[in-house]
Amino acid sequence: MSVATEIQSITARQFETPAKFTQFCENGGQPLGGYINGEHVSGAMNASIDTVDPGSLEVLARVCEMGQEQVDAAAEAAHRAFLGNGVSGWRDFPMEERCELMMKLVELCERDRDVLLACEIRDGGKLSELAEGDFDQIRATAEYFCSIAPQLILGDSGHRAVAADTQGFTYREPWGVVAGIIPWNYPIVLTSWFMFPALLAGNCILIKPAEDTPLSALYIAKLAEEAGFPPGVINVLPGRGELTGQFIAENPLVRYISFTGSPGVGQHILRTCDRHGTRMKREMGGNGSAIVLDDADPAIVARKIGRHTNQHFGQTCCTIHRIFVDQKIADDFIDAQRDFFSGLKIGYQADAGTQLGAVINATQRSRILTAQQQATARGGQPLVEGGPAEVAGKEGYYIRPALYQTQPDVACNPDEVFHCFATICPVSSADQALQLANSSPYGLGASVWTKDTQRGIALAKQFRDGTAQVNCHNMIAYGLPYSGQGISGGPGAGVNCEETLTDYTQVKAVYVADYPG
Ligand code: NAD
Repeated sequence: MSVATEIQSITARQFETPAKFTQFCENGGQPLGGYINGEHVSGAMNASIDTVDPGSLEVLARVCEMGQEQVDAAAEAAHRAFLGNGVSGWRDFPMEERCELMMKLVELCERDRDVLLACEIRDGGKLSELAEGDFDQIRATAEYFCSIAPQLILGDSGHRAVAADTQGFTYREPWGVVAGIIPWNYPIVLTSWFMFPALLAGNCILIKPAEDTPLSALYIAKLAEEAGFPPGVINVLPGRGELTGQFIAENPLVRYISFTGSPGVGQHILRTCDRHGTRMKREMGGNGSAIVLDDADPAIVARKIGRHTNQHFGQTCCTIHRIFVDQKIADDFIDAQRDFFSGLKIGYQADAGTQLGAVINATQRSRILTAQQQATARGGQPLVEGGPAEVAGKEGYYIRPALYQTQPDVACNPDEVFHCFATICPVSSADQALQLANSSPYGLGASVWTKDTQRGIALAKQFRDGTAQVNCHNMIAYGLPYSGQGISGGPGAGVNCEETLTDYTQVKAVYVADYPG
């Protein structure tokens, strides 16, 4: 095996669904309710959503949709839990006790690791190799934020004289009720990235999981109850975005929203928030690029890029969809990339060896197939054809990967397609590659591939993206912000850094003058 062929796509091992997951989903024959004020509640709308395994279309569970009444009840419960009812509210809990509860929750998640893996693999359609890495982020996130939270300065800053008879100081406090609106592609990771810093900063939270993947958040709610979180501190509200999500965005008790999802929905929620004086942070989609310089080994780099292109079948926000390769190595690079894409093993996500599983739902499937047709109509030359795929014995939403050759004046993939879908554009210089990479309104993740690290860093600094990488992609590390530029992000400082914690607080200036006379 050569160095290049050792680089494989993320691959599934055989996954057996644990009985505890099945029992959780069955819920004694009742639909799973939301989790509000420490209780599992059905929706007053009497509506429920079937959550399915996208690779087999088996209905895993029926989940109640939370209506206006439940959203209001959850916001009120969170508000009460924040303030406390004559007893200590969550805002008054010492940081040490908050951290103890977080770590207790982490331990319970680890005890029930196989159930949470089943949520990712069966409900989210994910391969075990990726799901296991995602699961590890629960502890990593909790430990990182517990390590920095004690330094978060809540309360008064130092007083200082601001006028002859006047003192001034700042006062930092949690928002109160904070909502996290989560997409379907990384449910456990994104719930953790929201939940731990928001709670540690002293807020009580509403979690709105995506309609396609509500199970992990509901299971985490169950574990939070067992860990001993006071009622109302953590609430989970499953339902459709345009109903449950919209009710959350319009609720006056919700003071801050952390949204992760598509730019269009993020823009819509921001407008709603603005009407109600609610603040918001947004982490949104991308159309990631990679620049391959002429000194790169085409076979090795093509396979590395292929692996990133197919992370969660391209349903990863910062995934590479646009590749710009120096024309001196373009032929060899294209051959190697075509081999990688065509060699992906399409299959059921819980079967050993699968590299490309089903996409999350029928809407995504039809969007992706349309985008493939549009790429060709706009002038992309198919290198790997795309189109629907079949997997024997399974009824899931399967699609073939798609790879196109394009040229600098042909923009055949302007929008995020969210599949193993990429274009390769041969370029005459690094400057041309950079200009094309930066021509997108998105700005989430980009990388440059070269043996000359210094040249790589110089180029990486010029990307118009929140994450710029040299010889790697899809990177995250606690302490470095993960955020988007352009339509991919903001406002807010991004996730996983010190400022994430301060995003979950607000600051005011207080002036105190001597009493006149
Ligand atoms: P989406 O925008 O359709 O939905 C995200 C969430 O918003 C869901 O929970 C949905 O129910 C909710 N929602 C929808 N309409 C709403 C409304 N009117 N009011 C309130 N909530 C509403 O996104 P998706 O399809 O679930 O996820 C994929 C998108 O997420 C992609 O664009 C991907 O790139 C992006 N994403 C970004 C990051 C990041 O960190 N930047 C991470 C993961 C995913």
